Amino acid sequence: MSVLALVEQIDGQVDELSLQALSLARELADGEPLTALLAGEGGREASAQLGSHGVANALVAEDERLGAYAPGAWARSVTDAIDRLGTGAVVAPGTVRGNEVLSHVAARLDLPFAANCAAIDERSPLTVTRVRWGGSLLEEARVHGSPALLSVAPHTVPAATVNGADAPSVESFAPALDENDLLVRVAEHVDAATAGISLAEAKVVVSGGRGVGSADGFGMLEELAELLHAAVGCSRVVTSAGWRPHTDQVGQTGTKVSPDLYIACGISGATQHIAGCKGAKKILAINSDAEAPILASADYAVIGDLTEIVPAITAELRKGREP
Ligand SMILES: Cc1cc2nc3c(=O)[nH]c(=O)nc-3n(C[C@H](O)[C@H](O)[C@H](O)COP(=O)(O)OP(=O)(O)OC[C@H]3O[C@@H](n4cnc5c(N)ncnc54)[C@H](O)[C@@H]3O)c2cc1C
Repeated sequence: MSVLALVEQIDGQVDELSLQALSLARELADGEPLTALLAGEGGREASAQLGSHGVANALVAEDERLGAYAPGAWARSVTDAIDRLGTGAVVAPGTVRGNEVLSHVAARLDLPFAANCAAIDERSPLTVTRVRWGGSLLEEARVHGSPALLSVAPHTVPAATVNGADAPSVESFAPALDENDLLVRVAEHVDAATAGISLAEAKVVVSGGRGVGSADGFGMLEELAELLHAAVGCSRVVTSAGWRPHTDQVGQTGTKVSPDLYIACGISGATQHIAGCKGAKKILAINSDAEAPILASADYAVIGDLTEIVPAITAELRKGREP
């Protein structure tokens, strides 16, 4: 099958998850020459790194408006490339961008899109294994429509190399972008305010859910976190309510954390939240409901009102540190 692989790169360096996606793309191509599509500045430079990953041809979408990420513009680049090549499948990394771009492509071409694939089970009819529910479920899915649109679940396929491959031939083209393709685009990059401790790498995470009650309620969690040199996390309810920024969200659609201790305050323990904290060595749940689902995942639990329990823990920690 002729396969087009969407490759992400930053300043000419190919993203690791794109290299993983190329492994699955190569398997699907089954010996046919694999073509990679790169967009934006650095695409030409990045394409030189793809020969050892089995890419025979690189198509580089060039337009100064592709300098900043714009999902519609990238999708236009993919649909133009499909028209040029008559490709049988498009494979992208299962990143936020890869999934977003293929969603646009699927909508424009009125095709189904299988996100987060971990394996090709059969080529005809095309059958894939998809990772669903934050890794709790593997689904076998038949993909109809042509070209087939697939993204590859991160870290499910190794970024394998091939021996003795030459650098790919490189061809550039100008996608036919219009104003609508650029309605949504990255305008500015702002570094997250992490107070020095990153959520993904913290040894202790103090996390709050709806039970915290308000944005101000997080003040007591921050106090405890400071004493424990911990990062503050939260559930999606909290980010949806605007109490904390999305960068603090733990879960399937947030950050995956693996601290030594995860303190879940007023969090019920929905599967989508647990998907983000199940890597913790120990979980302490503070919850007023003795039947809350989080207790099934917790190593320790304190049943009661967090507005009494959290300040009490903080006070004990302070006492222990008094000279
Ligand atoms: C596709 C999809 C993706 C999602 N991704 C995520 C994700 O990445 N992360 C995420 O968190 N959620 C995610 N969700 C949402 C998830 O399903 C839950 O709705 C959410 O996690 C619930 O948040 P919560 O535990 O804060 O709120 P609730 O479920 O309302 O739980 C609040 C808890 O607080 C307790 N409580 C209340 N008052 C107190 C008090 N005073 N003291 C102590 N305990 C108290 C209650 O007993 C209850 O257990 C996703 C959902 C979908 C459909």
